[in-house]
Amino acid sequence: MEPLIQARKVSFSYASENRPKQVLQDVSFTINRGEMVAIQGPSGSGKSTLFYLLGGMLAGASGSIRILNTELAGLNDSELALFRNRHIGFVFQQFHLLARANVLQNILLPTSYPVETAQVTPADHARARDLTKKLGIHDLAESLPNQLSGGQQQRVAIARALMRDVDLILADEPTGSLDSQSAAQVMDVLKELGRSGKTVVIITHDHEIARQCQRILEFKDGKIQNAETSPQLTENVTPAPSTNPPLWGNNRTKLALRSLPTVFGNIWRNKLKSMLTMVGISIGTASVLSMLSLGEFTKRRMLEGYESLGVNKIRLTGYRNWRLSADELRKSPAIFQSFQMATDVKSITEIFPEIAQISPFIVSWGSKASYGGKQVTEDIFLEGTNPSYFTITSGKLRSGEFFDQHHVDRRDRVCVVGPDVPKMLQIRPDDAPGIFINITARDGKGAFPCKMIGVLESQRSEEQWYKPNLRVVMPYTTVQTTGNIWDSQIRSLAIGLARGADVAATGAKIVNYFEGVYGKSGEFNVDQNSKLVSEMKRFLTLFTWLLASVAFLTLAVGGVGIHNMMLVAVSDRLKEIGLRKALGATAASIRVLFLAEAITLCGTAGLIGMVAGYGVCQGAIYMASKLMKGVEYEWVFNPWAFAISGIAIVTVGILSGLMPALKAESLTVIDALRSE
Ligand code: ADP
Ligand code: MG
Repeated sequence: MEPLIQARKVSFSYASENRPKQVLQDVSFTINRGEMVAIQGPSGSGKSTLFYLLGGMLAGASGSIRILNTELAGLNDSELALFRNRHIGFVFQQFHLLARANVLQNILLPTSYPVETAQVTPADHARARDLTKKLGIHDLAESLPNQLSGGQQQRVAIARALMRDVDLILADEPTGSLDSQSAAQVMDVLKELGRSGKTVVIITHDHEIARQCQRILEFKDGKIQNAETSPQLTENVTPAPSTNPPLWGNNRTKLALRSLPTVFGNIWRNKLKSMLTMVGISIGTASVLSMLSLGEFTKRRMLEGYESLGVNKIRLTGYRNWRLSADELRKSPAIFQSFQMATDVKSITEIFPEIAQISPFIVSWGSKASYGGKQVTEDIFLEGTNPSYFTITSGKLRSGEFFDQHHVDRRDRVCVVGPDVPKMLQIRPDDAPGIFINITARDGKGAFPCKMIGVLESQRSEEQWYKPNLRVVMPYTTVQTTGNIWDSQIRSLAIGLARGADVAATGAKIVNYFEGVYGKSGEFNVDQNSKLVSEMKRFLTLFTWLLASVAFLTLAVGGVGIHNMMLVAVSDRLKEIGLRKALGATAASIRVLFLAEAITLCGTAGLIGMVAGYGVCQGAIYMASKLMKGVEYEWVFNPWAFAISGIAIVTVGILSGLMPALKAESLTVIDALRSE
């Protein structure tokens, strides 16, 4: 005879209140394969406790429990889950069927565990159908549990226990909730199983039930009265069952993917609740996205007009101080006339690491341009710079290219022009590069030909007097050869600062330096606009983040909503969690199930929120374009806003699901199943 269950000196106590409560005391017995045994005892004697211990669902007993020569205490959580799934079929007094799954789905449940490796096959479906026939519930296969009588429900539960070809059927008061007629039917089924060679252990307080088994173990006051077993254990202990090679590896993402059908099922079942909690997340995400996008849009639009002046840029001017007395002039270390490239510009570039680019800026207005008998009707700005100027002023080309250092060195007569210049000369901007136009500098040496090599994009200006679209930008060396002496001197420098440099402070330092070099003979100034723009930029960035942080708060509130819903769900689904664990779900798969549900809810709501937020943003721009002068409707797409919202959603999803997931994971089967 092959021993199937060997219990030796099993003791167990509950840690109730302050005093531990001893429930089992040195319980020893053996049940052989093929036996049908009743464990009978009065209510409260510890039978159910023994049931959970034998089923590997309750830890902490002393002594030894071996099933199929495997020491249960030697198995870890996932090994136990697999062991239960493959070797033991459970039948509970309360049936524990999934209320929203039909009979067939309930019977099939063990085949989907452990989630990590299980695959439900057509053969499983055929077997489940077979079982319904065997147990006389064939007509009910598509019914829901609440459409069934108690006896029928218990037969479904027995079919579920038989779904995997288990070695042992463990039943705890299987007839306890049934009327006598149903009880008799269920006992017939169990006896039939016993006759067919299955090992069946029925735990009951009812002597009438126990009497129908081959053997009765009397259980009283935590002890078995008639355990006529030898205290020896069979020697050979088979090692722990190796968990099947995982289908997809132990990857959590894969596990989450496998839980998705269950996740969607749960969400669908709680449609209304899910939707209401999702609204919170959607609103939060929509606010985050629209605030970030709108803030960035506003900032860009407000700073756009100042681009030519610069955001991270300084315009420095230096003039000879003509009001200086002869005495003061004598005290000056040097006399300032204009900035010298070889000395002044070179020195400050070396002294101040904040300076990233620097360009002379010679400007003379009142110049003229003509081509083929046509003339530009307004005064144009003739600007002399070096190539860095385009970087400093964020110049964008519509066609052609900027001039380079070689052009500067050779004093080439080339120019990059604002788009209105070719337009007024009736040249298509795209055709302009390569065409020579005639330029006449104010008070200059007469007209000279100049080759257009690039046309700038149209640019806005906040200043009435400055028309960036009517510019002709040339190498400063060229301008110096063509204009009058006065207009050819460098009295203005455009300076681009390194990222993060303080515009106001750097400006003050440079002014300070020149005052040191030239004393009172020069008047040096930093364009007030440079400071203003940098202040404005800082303010607008701050403002955007202020708005966004309010939005983040909304999102966090949404997250708390999901968190609460999931916590309630854990309590609502205690029995379900317990059952799934009993049937072979590992703790990890339960945790992943809840996390995946939170992330799915959050992710779906977040995607909806992103679309809504983008709509809100575009709507606001549209409204502004209708209500405010100077604002034009445009499509804005800010990838950063999307990225930040996406990260926020995933974070909220994980945070809101974590606690409920850990709570669900840590539930013991016995607590979960016994909960009311
Ligand atoms: P039976 O199934 O024979 O009625 P149980 O195994 O359910 O008995 O319970 C045995 C004893 O242990 C009872 O007195 C019960 O009150 C107690 N008990 C059961 N579960 C717990 C628990 N979680 N904490 C403390 N005591 C418990
Ligand atoms: Mg009980």
